[in-house]
Amino acid sequence: MSDLRQLYQEVILDHYKKPRNFHPLADAHRSAEGYNPLCGDKVTVYLKVEDGLLSDISFIGSGCAISMASASMMTASLKGKTVTEAEAFFERFHALVTGRAGTNAEAKLGKLAAFSGVCEFPIRVKCASLPWHALRAALEAKEETVSTE
Ligand code: ZN
Repeated sequence: MSDLRQLYQEVILDHYKKPRNFHPLADAHRSAEGYNPLCGDKVTVYLKVEDGLLSDISFIGSGCAISMASASMMTASLKGKTVTEAEAFFERFHALVTGRAGTNAEAKLGKLAAFSGVCEFPIRVKCASLPWHALRAALEAKEETVSTE
């Protein structure tokens, strides 16, 4: 288990240091901001939705390693997926970080399973799920800032 833990840690640090899709999207169809006051994490998620597909997804923001790595891995995992698939990922990821996911759900999350240890740290659950809440707000085309509070 400790080897797996270490691998997960490395994946998260890699995405924190070299965030993927870290830029605003000039021609985004939708965007939403998220803010986690407990930690000070801020993230804005940009989406391009074409024919039910997330043809492009990016983010900007600042915060702790967990929130930034989560945003980076979310964008990398969801680019090219359908909106329906993105919503399924949201549910699975949320179950994972709150400790409700079975091993089956974990397998379906791919690299995002790196966040499985987060459920042991309740204060970090909001960090990890912040970009996902912003994603959902963007999918629902809400304009206001979502807060984890
Ligand atoms: Zn945080």
